[in-house]
Amino acid sequence: MVKLFNTLTRSKEPVEGSSLRIYSCGPTVYNYAHIGNFRSYLFADVLNRTLKLAGYQVEHAMNLTDVDDKTINGAIELTKKEPGKYADLKSALAAYTAPYTEAFFADLKTLNVIKFDHHPRATDYIPAMLDLVERLIQNGVAYEQDGSVYYRIGEKKDYGKLSRVDLEKNKTGTRYNTDEYDKDDVRDFVLWKAESKDGVHWHSAHGDGRPGWHLECSAMIHEIFKGGIDIHTGGVDLIFPHHENEIAQSEAGYGAEFVKHWVHCEHLLVDNRKMSKSAGNFYTLRDLLQQGKRPEVIRYFLLSAHYSQKVNFTAEALHQAEAGVEKFYSLWQRLTRVKKNSAQADAEFAKTSAEARAKFTAELCDDLNTPRALAVVHEYIRAANAFADARQDVVAEADADEMMQTLRHFDKVLGLLDLIPKTGVSGDLQALLDERNAARAAKDFKRADELRDQLLKAGYKILDTKTGSHLEKV
Ligand code: AMP
Ligand code: ZN
Repeated sequence: MVKLFNTLTRSKEPVEGSSLRIYSCGPTVYNYAHIGNFRSYLFADVLNRTLKLAGYQVEHAMNLTDVDDKTINGAIELTKKEPGKYADLKSALAAYTAPYTEAFFADLKTLNVIKFDHHPRATDYIPAMLDLVERLIQNGVAYEQDGSVYYRIGEKKDYGKLSRVDLEKNKTGTRYNTDEYDKDDVRDFVLWKAESKDGVHWHSAHGDGRPGWHLECSAMIHEIFKGGIDIHTGGVDLIFPHHENEIAQSEAGYGAEFVKHWVHCEHLLVDNRKMSKSAGNFYTLRDLLQQGKRPEVIRYFLLSAHYSQKVNFTAEALHQAEAGVEKFYSLWQRLTRVKKNSAQADAEFAKTSAEARAKFTAELCDDLNTPRALAVVHEYIRAANAFADARQDVVAEADADEMMQTLRHFDKVLGLLDLIPKTGVSGDLQALLDERNAARAAKDFKRADELRDQLLKAGYKILDTKTGSHLEKV
């Protein structure tokens, strides 16, 4: 059974049930996501993969915020750059968010994040949001003022239960119109914002307007899951006000428990400061790939710290991640080329392998402890290499299978094998490269050189890098 630290109760709790509904706050598609954002999306991926590994059924949604203060500002800028191009601001908004949405999906794929079941976009759920606004008014916790609708936080007795904000500082009767605000300044927050006909707007009983950011997630969760959910994730910066307000809206609007487990991922830092767009200290995935960083190394780096710990993004940390990936790939590649015989499986080693698999799973089930799970992986890699060394790379087929099965087991969560650098060349050339690597490993340099020359004649040179050998067209 998986145990997770629940922000609501501040304690580690078992995840009950066999079929889980999960929602992760996704990106605001107003720019390319930076790798700090990706820390929280990869954390959702590790959660998803771990729960599946542990035998749960998972239905997982990650939303796209395509209407909020930031995206609307972007759309306004777009209309200034290209006057007369868009029929209205709503179409400019769609045009502005489309490339970032596409880039987000492409980046998830690059980092081998398993596809989530749902990716709701806020603009597709406006009727559900308006329905929630009406429920909140009817239930006496929301009020209209000048065409906008606000949540009266004083009406919800347990407002603040997630973030434990100091309600003494609650400025009763004062309101916020913006989507983001500070913990020290708790006020009524906006559910529905009045907008002029020139702004991004939809019609409502309160006049033209558009949803507040917090309302979006509550309504989408209800539409998709038709009720409360088991797990809700996001970065720690979302605890207040975003998630606090989601709880307030959903519980007062739909009248049932909203979320059982709240799980929050800590920040990725640069020089001990949160990586963020506003601070300008950020790297997008694209920046890093352009600098020659490999996606599997970035993935490994982001998994190597426990999600509840802050972690600094440094060149040294990336080097360490690269070395970790290299060890994993080297063993995998070694296993693809060892000579196999039909000897009996080594019972002792089979036991070592089974224990490593079980320990890996157990570490992840314990609040997604990726650093300890990676320690198990590396201990196993050392044992497997020692096993192959002792047999000079001639092993029983059953032993080789056992080792590969163990690496595949680890990879169900690590997700590295899909990212092994591909040469992009035909099978024949790859076979020559594999044979040359095997010859080199066996110190048969004459054969290795022959194969290198054969590849050169075919128009390819070999690049030997830390993450393996690749072919490049000459
Ligand atoms: P945003 O696009 O700013 O709404 O953020 C999307 C997600 O990324 C949220 O879950 C944030 O909490 C998370 N996030 C933003 N910056 C960081 C960071 N430096 N480290 C980890 N997660 C972050
Ligand atoms: Zn959200």
